[in-house]
Amino acid sequence: MFAPYNTNLTAYRRPQTKFQRHTFKTTWTYKFCCLGGPNEDEVPDKPMKRILIETGLGEKKLALVKNKDAEYLRDALLEHYPKLKDGGGYELMRSSSRTLLETISIPSCGYTTHYLSDESGLGSAICYIRPLQAQLSLDAVERSEPSEFCLKEVCKVCGEKIPIVSLRDHLFECKEQCEHDQMEDMPVITKRQKRLEPIHDSACVRLNS
Ligand SMILES: [Zn+2]
Repeated sequence: MFAPYNTNLTAYRRPQTKFQRHTFKTTWTYKFCCLGGPNEDEVPDKPMKRILIETGLGEKKLALVKNKDAEYLRDALLEHYPKLKDGGGYELMRSSSRTLLETISIPSCGYTTHYLSDESGLGSAICYIRPLQAQLSLDAVERSEPSEFCLKEVCKVCGEKIPIVSLRDHLFECKEQCEHDQMEDMPVITKRQKRLEPIHDSACVRLNS
């Protein structure tokens, strides 16, 4: 009874599996971390990591195509780390201990995704990117202004629909406003407490006697 259904399912699944294997072989997903300047030689600590992220550098997981040339890797890194354009080239590093970084030796044709994934011995370590000639700006990346097509989300504090690109800033202001309003509502709470006073008094009297 179930046989025809099962056969169809298997037949349908097979090409999907092949496709997944195929894409797995040609792309390489890796965690990079872009550093701020040419003299950095230590693994960034937690506060530094946060600063780097806020400035558009720091850790990012990138899916890159294997078997491409060094130009491809450079363009991909610059696309995800636009500030790296000001660095005057880059070198790649990995941690040599818990706190120190060492340069990954650069092959004659430059760093390629194939070299990084198959020959560099990086394994599962984070690949650090260090600008070669210049310090990168550590100014925060400006958040983009919401366009009219921007997705909106309801603010859980005030119930208004806010474009998601400005929701974080809105929440900050909205919560402050909300706390301010609660302060003004204080007399209502005082009235409620007054009603409870007789019970409170008798309880205290009982405890004291
Ligand atoms: Zn709100």
